[in-house]
Amino acid sequence: MHECDLLDNAVKDLVIANRILARENVIDGFGHVSVRHPTDRERFLLSRSRSPEVVTRDDIMEFRLDGSLACDDHRRPYAERFIHGAIYMARPDVNAVSHHHAHAVIPFSLTNVPLRPVFHMASVMGIDVPVWDSQPEFGDTNMLVDTPEMGHSLARTLGTRSAALLRGHGAVCAAANLKAICMVSIYMRDNAELILRTLPLGQPSYLSDGEIAKAAAMLSGAMPQTRAWDYWTARAGFQGL
Ligand SMILES: [Zn+2]
Repeated sequence: MHECDLLDNAVKDLVIANRILARENVIDGFGHVSVRHPTDRERFLLSRSRSPEVVTRDDIMEFRLDGSLACDDHRRPYAERFIHGAIYMARPDVNAVSHHHAHAVIPFSLTNVPLRPVFHMASVMGIDVPVWDSQPEFGDTNMLVDTPEMGHSLARTLGTRSAALLRGHGAVCAAANLKAICMVSIYMRDNAELILRTLPLGQPSYLSDGEIAKAAAMLSGAMPQTRAWDYWTARAGFQGL
């Protein structure tokens, strides 16, 4: 495919991913999703600072991995763009990143109850989800990951995993592509809701490490990813595009 077509496709899919995560109530007025530039691995694409529900092609900006602007662009970027660049820098396997504040995941950043998969679809978020706490390294902050140093610290906690929680704030998800990032983000939230609904009844029985690995491998195939993407795309109003 021609380079311009690759970029055009990436921008289109990024707009759809914004709308999907908004429609599925993972991202609300805040939070964001990005994709690595399809022909320049040292750059990524991310909307200007606006609610994902209303993001259009014209809102997409290009950044270098250090969070600086790749082009002359005077629009206001997201303050937390450093999350994305730091993860792309640390993780060559990652080509899509989301950051959200889904309320269902927050309790797991405040307690010792682990956010581990309890149902098969959530296997895509991995065996364990660590909690990043900005307090020990950065003290009292405005709770935003708005410097490169904080981005790198968060990326270190994420390590090789697919998701991490931010204490009292939200979560980050990392995946190979935009279809996969929607799966991780949405099923992470669903998994958190299922645990919260289970706890009043008793302790949840988590999937075993082997079940998580096998289910995740199955769901990482092109068929499940495309089927889920088509479903969410239709719900977000983009059916037939
Ligand atoms: Zn945030």
